[in-house]
Amino acid sequence: MRFVVVGAAGRMGQALIRAIAEAENCELIAAIEREGSDALGKDSGELSGLGANGIAITDDPIACFARCEAVLDFTAPKATLAFAELAAQARIVHVIGTTGLEEDDIKKLDAAARHARIVRAGNMSLGVNLLAAMTKKVAAALDADFDIEIVEMHHRHKVDAPSGTALMLGEAAAEGRGISLKDHGVFSRHGITGERKRGDIGFATLRGGSVIGDHEAIFAGTGERFVLSHYAGDRSIFSRGAVKAAIWAFDKKPGHYSMADVLGLSD
Ligand code: NAD
Repeated sequence: MRFVVVGAAGRMGQALIRAIAEAENCELIAAIEREGSDALGKDSGELSGLGANGIAITDDPIACFARCEAVLDFTAPKATLAFAELAAQARIVHVIGTTGLEEDDIKKLDAAARHARIVRAGNMSLGVNLLAAMTKKVAAALDADFDIEIVEMHHRHKVDAPSGTALMLGEAAAEGRGISLKDHGVFSRHGITGERKRGDIGFATLRGGSVIGDHEAIFAGTGERFVLSHYAGDRSIFSRGAVKAAIWAFDKKPGHYSMADVLGLSD
């Protein structure tokens, strides 16, 4: 399978290039960065710590998309929407790890998924997707006497909050409870907030250091607390998941899939 990595010089872009090199029957054919990036012209293998692979980073996705079966995209919302149009035109697999996408953006991706096979997840790791499935089950089993709080911590460079994964856990909890996160999510607290409302799903965001991604779903009852947690120690859990998602989507019909579909966790 032939891959293009967009955002190739980013933290995840480099991890994706390493994951493709490690995967069987997978080949990197192009590496793309934004116009004006310092990385343009550099060898993508060298940049990602693999040693030279002869694939220089370019800013021209159109020619590359026509020659590949899948594009791996962990960039930024605006870039991802533009890549989704190109991937739909080329009828290829588009694996999206970018977070911070708004409701309107998701609608545009749904439209692109009429032609492309999109797999999108706020977190591509097996562990976190299991965590989401368990969060949904526990939220369904425990009633609103148990207050749900989602806590996350990420490195100091992260620009969006709460994390895509925290939102995914919040959605899973809301689904389990049969409520909407839009109506029950509480995304910040400051000053005299009043008492916590029964049935709310709270979020707390921590930022600092080099933390790759810690997530907890806390179910706090009277006199007891049930906590589901996941701590990412290495970006390769996301990049390996992204390659796995692309291979899975290769023979699927056009559509907008999730990592739960890839891992057989959707019900
Ligand atoms: P980063 O800033 O290190 O990398 C992003 C790269 O995308 C940069 O090199 C940037 O130049 C490039 N880029 C931006 N616009 C572009 C464009 N138009 N064309 C080509 N390249 C472009 O960030 P990161 O830590 O690698 O994270 C990237 C995204 O992935 C974020 O949204 C982050 O939250 C998300 N993420 C998702 C998962 C997951 O499992 N889904 C895991 C980790 C990070």
